[in-house]
Amino acid sequence: MKSAQASHLLPVYARVDLAFERGEGAWLVATNGERYLDFTSGVAVNALGHAHPHLVAAITEQAKKVWHVSNLYRIPEAERLADRLCAASFADVVFFGNSGAEAMECAIKMARKYQSVSGQPERYRIVTFEGAFHGRTLATLAAGGQKKYLEGFDQVVFGDLEATKRAIGPETAAILIEPIMGEGGVRVVPPEFLRALRRLCDERGLLLVFDEVQTGVGRTGQLFAYQQSGVSPDIMALAKALGGGFPLGACLATTEAAKGMVAGTHGSTFGGNPLAMAAAGALLDVVLADGFLARVRRTSLILKQKLAEIRDRYPAVIAEVRGEGLLVGLRAVVPSAQLVDELRAEKLITVAAGDNVVRLLPPLIVSEEEVAEAVRRIERACARIAQAQTGPQRQGAAG
Ligand code: PLP
Repeated sequence: MKSAQASHLLPVYARVDLAFERGEGAWLVATNGERYLDFTSGVAVNALGHAHPHLVAAITEQAKKVWHVSNLYRIPEAERLADRLCAASFADVVFFGNSGAEAMECAIKMARKYQSVSGQPERYRIVTFEGAFHGRTLATLAAGGQKKYLEGFDQVVFGDLEATKRAIGPETAAILIEPIMGEGGVRVVPPEFLRALRRLCDERGLLLVFDEVQTGVGRTGQLFAYQQSGVSPDIMALAKALGGGFPLGACLATTEAAKGMVAGTHGSTFGGNPLAMAAAGALLDVVLADGFLARVRRTSLILKQKLAEIRDRYPAVIAEVRGEGLLVGLRAVVPSAQLVDELRAEKLITVAAGDNVVRLLPPLIVSEEEVAEAVRRIERACARIAQAQTGPQRQGAAG
């Protein structure tokens, strides 16, 4: 393999000089044969780990039939998947795209169309929250608060209800929020804040949009994070885990919220193709099976308990353990990038987020033994960092 500098890939990513050639469950095997415990899951994507037999069989089966037909025709696989997503959620209708950003674009467009066909075309602005991340297209960057792309989005301080009320004006169409801010540092939005947003939307005729691209499809131990708060949105974006690693995004909505999205208002060439639908159908078979989500919650408790012990032993390395289910954040005292590097040296791969947080995103199928192994690796990395901080004479105190 050429050096990263000599590669012809557009250099938009600060990549680690490491490549993987295969995966098995929660493990990734690098091109040099080294085995890594995968606590990133391709950034919350590989919910069933790598090479899950049910997913492999479903995609292989479908690949022999038909991959893509376009949305000029009915796609029975997409109709079936939409039925299942609606049966398991607040939603009545689903639009399929190929990524989180596309799911969000549909959500934003839908909220504006709703106001427009409700006789209020002046309502186009969306209230969003500082620290949010909604994607990398221009509109979704704007929703995430990138100053130069801010047109049409009003950012308020996370968790500030009075500021949210002040941000709502005659041009406001919707409020958009992640129930847990993933990229922003695994910051859990308190359920009472989500309930207050729901009330505000109902009082002011606004739509409530949840971005569950990172939290959705089992990651938090519920099928959708909103289910824990008891608050239903009008529109919800999904992606990441939905295809189990196959690129797929979805925008779910109530019939009422989607009433402006008539033929010709939106579309996608690839969206909802039979291959992606086969992957998502297989993923749902596993995630919706009896006991699967309960097991995610149990594994989460074990992981968070052990991490809390490590935090207590190494307060100069880890300040806080946060998150829900298997979306867990370690707020670091040392730079988060240093902790990620030290964990990788232990052959445990993790991913940094905002607020100096290291995210632990194991596949949802991770076993208790694998969690125990990850914890041992985290402990060793913390001990090494603490040792370097205190110097060799105090080595014993850190352990
Ligand atoms: N929304 C949230 C909450 C995300 O975490 C992400 C990606 O990390 C996106 C949207 C954008 O998804 P994609 O990268 O698939 O466009």
